Amino acid sequence: MSRSVRRGEGFRWEDVPLEPYKETGNDFREVSRQLLFGHGEGLASDLRYFEVGPGGHTTLERHEHAHAVVVLRGRGRVLVDPEIREIRPFDLVHVPSLTWHQFRTTGDEPLGFLCVADGGRDRPRRPTPIELEELRRRPGVAGFVRI
Ligand code: MN
Repeated sequence: MSRSVRRGEGFRWEDVPLEPYKETGNDFREVSRQLLFGHGEGLASDLRYFEVGPGGHTTLERHEHAHAVVVLRGRGRVLVDPEIREIRPFDLVHVPSLTWHQFRTTGDEPLGFLCVADGGRDRPRRPTPIELEELRRRPGVAGFVRI
């Protein structure tokens, strides 16, 4: 069965609910999530669209599964351990397995990106105090990460 979805207003798609980024937690800020394609549709992965509002950030985390990210709007910076990179629309970011990562918005426009992730993925893990200490020793990282 095929499915096609029209774009709605702005960075929304018709009949795709706007969901919270995560059900619980206070380790992120101003993040919304839309599930565009789910792995139940004969796909191995989920395709999600995330938006991080001005001043916002995603969780500092890592996990076994990888991410493939395509930036669609706004400006931001992303930590993919050990590097922090500037990102803008159409930039691509690969987050390898077990790599610490966090996205932050720069400026007044939300940072919006598509993100592919395995349907049977493991749960994200946050750094332990020792892992955080180690991560903060990398150049620029102490001033970047938000927990
Ligand atoms: Mn992640």
